[in-house]
Amino acid sequence: MPLGIVILGRQGSGKGTQAVRIAESFGVVHISTGDMLRAAVAEGTELGMKAKSIMDSGDLVPDTVINGIVEERLQKDDVQSGGFLLDGFPRTVGQAEALSGYAENDLNLALNLDVSIDEVMDRMLARGRDDDTAEAITRRLELYETETAPLLDWFEERGILKIVDGNGAEDEVFSRLTAVIEEISEK
Ligand code: ADP
Repeated sequence: MPLGIVILGRQGSGKGTQAVRIAESFGVVHISTGDMLRAAVAEGTELGMKAKSIMDSGDLVPDTVINGIVEERLQKDDVQSGGFLLDGFPRTVGQAEALSGYAENDLNLALNLDVSIDEVMDRMLARGRDDDTAEAITRRLELYETETAPLLDWFEERGILKIVDGNGAEDEVFSRLTAVIEEISEK
């Protein structure tokens, strides 16, 4: 059975970086909704044009839009054979419910990369992406607390939540994540 993993964590927690390393190391397909949306913006597709202003303000793209994109991606052959690591999705309980509707049996693990608000604020201001203005960062962190943090309970209730300390050096955090995933994949 291929692994199905979701990685959660505040914006700036380092989840994108760690997700790339996990995908390489465990052979699962890294699916980042942020990357998919940024690619759509860069290509100037209809989706990209709709998403751009929403992303720049730090708001969330509507569930109906993002759910469809993820559902379609999960059906591709590479995911069916290799498994997946979802990064940036689900971000709301509505998205988690949609995901469990089409991938319930494939989902083994929800990782929460835990880093404090003060620390992520510093990291995001330092990386300087287009949508990393102080206002958009504040908005994204606010939305994380109201929309995404409730997901921790949602995954906990389903018995698949693991909290991993995201403070410290990148390699150190990666070792912690690897240990948790290995434990799950041996089951
Ligand atoms: P960050 O983790 O710094 O917020 P992401 O790359 O995950 O960066 O997302 C960037 C932006 O893309 C978000 O602020 C949001 O506007 C949009 N986005 C990404 N994933 C989702 C999602 N699952 N639901 C709604 N909007 C999303």
